[in-house]
Amino acid sequence: MRIEGRKIQGIFMERSGLLIILSSPSGAGKSTLARRLMEWDPALRFSVSATTRSPRPGEVDGEHYYFRSIEEFRTMVDQGEMLEHAEVFGNYYGSPKTPIEAAMREGRDTLFDVDWQGGQQIRASALGAQVISIFILPPSLVELERRLVSRGQDSAEVIRGRMQKSLNEISHWAEYDYVLVNEDLDQSTEQLKTILTAERLRRERQTGLGRFVRGLMDEEIGR
Ligand code: ADP
Repeated sequence: MRIEGRKIQGIFMERSGLLIILSSPSGAGKSTLARRLMEWDPALRFSVSATTRSPRPGEVDGEHYYFRSIEEFRTMVDQGEMLEHAEVFGNYYGSPKTPIEAAMREGRDTLFDVDWQGGQQIRASALGAQVISIFILPPSLVELERRLVSRGQDSAEVIRGRMQKSLNEISHWAEYDYVLVNEDLDQSTEQLKTILTAERLRRERQTGLGRFVRGLMDEEIGR
């Protein structure tokens, strides 16, 4: 099945699916930007992580996370079903491989909201050639903290923990292909769309290009 791609003169321009990694310290705006990208391109798929942590109120299994027991999670890891996994604050998190591979076969891009550890593992995986990684920085730490507070999701203690962890996350910025400072949300959204558009147009990713160009060369001109 080919879902994405562009139709040019009736010819379907196939391309391989990308794995788009978004990382940032918590509160810099990853989820907000991911949501905006998916509004722009509804064919984008979000990689739902599996986790051993308990669901928070309102969180739905299969939508926000796949909630799994530690035994179930370990079995998935042992069977090679996780593209990456890590332990964060005593809970396990991982990206199940099957839906990602299915999306890639359809030429659909998958968005990942993972930390630097997840980013490193996905880059090092067999699918690494299809990865584009983007790091999102806050304009300042004061603004980062303000956003965490105004999001209204975490206690003061959790926010302190997130602020402490943020310096470690930020220290990995140079491992990413692209880095943007999320000061203005509209501008950051436009920058992300530009990155995706350019990456999708890379020659080696447009797998239908050879056939298209052969068709061009075969056209009769002015004869
Ligand atoms: P993350 O997913 O990185 O933890 P969120 O997307 O939840 O961060 O954003 C944290 C808070 O900051 C949210 O309340 C969001 O609405 C707000 N926010 C995100 N980007 C911006 C921005 N550019 N300017 C102001 N507020 C922002």
